[in-house]
Amino acid sequence: MKDKFFIKKLSNKNPTKDITADDLKYKIPRMTSKKKVAVKINKKIIFSENNIPIIAGPNGVESRELIFKIAKFLKKKGVKLLRGHAYKPLTFPYRSKKYSETKSEGMDWLDEVKKFLGLNIVTEVTEIQFLDRIARTADILQIGSRNMQNLELLKEVAKTKKPIILKRHFGASIRDMLGAAEHIILEGNEKLILCERGISAPHTHRETSRFLLDLQAIVALQEICKFPVISDPSHATFWAPWVPKLTLASIAANCNGLIIEMHPNPKESLVDPLQPLNFKEFSNLLAKCKKISKAINKKIV
Ligand code: PEP
Ligand code: MN
Repeated sequence: MKDKFFIKKLSNKNPTKDITADDLKYKIPRMTSKKKVAVKINKKIIFSENNIPIIAGPNGVESRELIFKIAKFLKKKGVKLLRGHAYKPLTFPYRSKKYSETKSEGMDWLDEVKKFLGLNIVTEVTEIQFLDRIARTADILQIGSRNMQNLELLKEVAKTKKPIILKRHFGASIRDMLGAAEHIILEGNEKLILCERGISAPHTHRETSRFLLDLQAIVALQEICKFPVISDPSHATFWAPWVPKLTLASIAANCNGLIIEMHPNPKESLVDPLQPLNFKEFSNLLAKCKKISKAINKKIV
């Protein structure tokens, strides 16, 4: 008798817990479909079930010299998507005395990288007022965690018709994230990539692991929605020594792409110096990513 009661109470008809059948039908109808959507950046870069594009680069576009140094290295390694933000939000205004956004000048450097090295650019849009400038250069527009539910920004970014990476806010449920994503689709832009980048959870082990990479969210999002889901272990762990293992775990969890922060001399990164990999660490990780991907019939691109 007692067992029966517990089984009834504890059984969960919706494995994704906070999303009901009604939600799927009425709140996020454009997210779901049996057929997966592949997001094509160009002939070579496609976010899809069998491809894992790597997005790598520094946190901020700090200088022309830095961005060229990194871009040249990535090109040699066969990485096609360079990330770096010329506009970026900081959690604390005083975090780095030396750091300031390079804004339109930084975007000009990214333009040069594109022109001379042929890399494609992923960069963040923080505000509608900067969108025109950023969209002129970016191949993928990133909406950062802190802006996940900035709905006016989402709608304007969607109207550019460019591919979009929507990062999950570190305090948002999967339901909230998909609700935000639905706003983008409603504007007629289906070039959407969702990104898991770690959530806030109590950490007792070490102060440097700032967020918790929710690997389960990758699987859950894919169960519900038709868009590619990528993983950002760098922002989740905030701690370079943990990035390689969580990158490999993300591939095993079926991610459709990766964001990895790197820097020629991480200690000198003006923002979040604990989190980027150096060139050697990045090269080692890339080789391992290729092995793991091959083992599950996927391709690093
Ligand atoms: C970033 O990609 O540099 C970034 C700030 O990420 P997030 O919005 O996930 O913190
Ligand atoms: Mn960053």
